[in-house]
Amino acid sequence: MTAQHTARLLVGKPVAEAMNAQTRDRVAAFVARNRSGPTLAVVSVGANAEATRYVETLRRGAAAVDIGFARHDLPAGTSAEGLVAHLHTLNDDAQITGIIVTMPLPGHIPAVVVEETLSARKDVDGITLTSAGRLTLGLPGFAPATPLGGLAILKHYGIALVGQRVVVVGRSAVVGRPFAQLLLQENATVTIAHSHTRDLAAITREADILAVAVGRPGFITPEMVRSGATVIDFGTNYTDAGLRGDVHPDAITVAGAITPVPGGTGPVTNAVLMRQVIEAAESRMRTG
Ligand code: NAP
Repeated sequence: MTAQHTARLLVGKPVAEAMNAQTRDRVAAFVARNRSGPTLAVVSVGANAEATRYVETLRRGAAAVDIGFARHDLPAGTSAEGLVAHLHTLNDDAQITGIIVTMPLPGHIPAVVVEETLSARKDVDGITLTSAGRLTLGLPGFAPATPLGGLAILKHYGIALVGQRVVVVGRSAVVGRPFAQLLLQENATVTIAHSHTRDLAAITREADILAVAVGRPGFITPEMVRSGATVIDFGTNYTDAGLRGDVHPDAITVAGAITPVPGGTGPVTNAVLMRQVIEAAESRMRTG
């Protein structure tokens, strides 16, 4: 029997730890120059159990890097106008550095209300129309934290990007689309695939770097992965068997390197969010 090939695991924890160590230093330097440190506000409308868990993860993430935390739980019946008014208050509050609004919102409030209202200067998860536009145009600004985390993993592990053939499966505003923009900015050659793509496997097999954000456990089978490719699995699917990625676990026998699920892209998202909070604080200090 021959030993089976096993891909190098691109584990997220050391990436998050290195990023958090830098953020802590930057927060300490900021506090030394200013009276107070940065604060992240997290707004939820009618928070359910999942949103509450996410808010708790953010609270712990902020505490780990000495960033202040302000939780704003609005009642489920809050109107779109009420949320807009609340966000304007936070936009204007000098004590608040960054703002995250947990999604999904209740059905009567379209997400675009938040995307249009949040100040781009406090938009640490890169969801506003301004942030998305700046990312698309290759201008500085905040990008969504999850795809930025994927990029941080690639850089941390020294994966070459320039001129590489990247295939991104999924085109959501929060993961696939911004990840494609970020890799384009790194001078990779990027293809975006989605539910209307013909012969998906032929396209994914061309990828030097295959990134997947589809939301279906095990969707990418080993046959769809080019031998030696780097695979970034953004999938976070809660199944009866536990947390599963969008890439089948057997892809480990084909890929050259792969993010595990759990333990790959997930842990880095939080660290990126906190890095963007200190960036927002430093930027405001520079520009007033
Ligand atoms: P989403 O908004 O549902 O988007 C899914 C994308 O997959 C869509 O663009 C869709 O295409 C595409 N798709 C669906 N079926 C397909 C098929 N058969 N072939 C090719 N493409 C197909 O999902 P999302 O918010 O991007 O999330 C994707 C995954 O990432 C989920 O598992 C989510 O939990 C996870 N996630 C992880 C993190 C993290 O920190 N790691 C953060 C956020 C999300 P169309 O556009 O044509 O419909």
